[in-house]
Amino acid sequence: MSLVVVGSMAFDAIETPFGKTDKIIGGAGTYIAWCASNFVPVKQISVVGGDFPQAELDALTNRNIDLEGVQIKKDEKTFFWSGRYHMDMNSRDTLDTQLNVLENFQPVVPESFQDCEFLMLGNLVPAVQRSVIEQLRKRPRLIVLDTMNLWMDIAMDDLKKTLSMVDVLMVNDSEARQLSGDYSLVRAAATIMNMGPKYVIIKKGEHGALLFYESKVFFAPALPLEEVFDPTGAGDTFAGGFIGHLAKTRDISFENMKTAIIIGSAMASFCVEKFGTERLREINKSDIDARLEEFVQLVNFDISLG
Ligand code: AMP
Repeated sequence: MSLVVVGSMAFDAIETPFGKTDKIIGGAGTYIAWCASNFVPVKQISVVGGDFPQAELDALTNRNIDLEGVQIKKDEKTFFWSGRYHMDMNSRDTLDTQLNVLENFQPVVPESFQDCEFLMLGNLVPAVQRSVIEQLRKRPRLIVLDTMNLWMDIAMDDLKKTLSMVDVLMVNDSEARQLSGDYSLVRAAATIMNMGPKYVIIKKGEHGALLFYESKVFFAPALPLEEVFDPTGAGDTFAGGFIGHLAKTRDISFENMKTAIIIGSAMASFCVEKFGTERLREINKSDIDARLEEFVQLVNFDISLG
């Protein structure tokens, strides 16, 4: 039984008000894998070009990330994305997207991945995400989907088809509004739950995340940080922490999902502290435990009702 992660592996170039990078390693699948591998071994499905450094692949393998599902297209180039953050760091503009190997990506699920119990579909073309679900002979216990506004703009029907096959949808607040056509996030979540997912997670950047299930709602804060260096990949890291915890505990109850979104928030708080995946590569279990303790303190209070 295992965790399978699907998502882009990329070169990113990032500009924030505090600095600028040349091409660094990025991609939704990369962030998810680095994060989730703190909790369980990961089986990765993705595609890279011949320009993707072998040392990066080796670093992932050393983290117990199985790359059998990662296609290497020797004569092609890796997906490239570039973005610039605004002063508030909550919004950004995409400056460039070069699909390269992602253009004709057809994922192939290796035989050794057929034992998939938890499936994390990182942000990708919805039809590609669906193709992985369809290749699995036994439905995973839990399928989590991340997506973005781009697919709502250009592939809404496909996205809705994929959405009808998953258990948990993760989106940010503006995407939830766009998908549902409703400004109220409570009504938006209800509308999205009617499209298929039993659980909806709405991320609100530095303002935390909401988890909806039936008529219940739970809120996880984001840790107030003195400095946010680079928010790229925070959503993917959140996803990695969420599914990593669920896969480790093998408990998919609503109660355990509450813990999972706190762990997702804690992991995301590391991601933003440095550029790219740098911070995620440094942290260990004691860093994670200390950060979780900060979360406990952040929301712990007594109240006596008269
Ligand atoms: P996030 O900050 O969580 O939205 O994720 C940022 C990561 O998503 C970057 O590392 C990009 O390489 C990757 N990314 C951006 N656009 C796309 C896209 N259209 N398809 C797949 N991955 C993307």
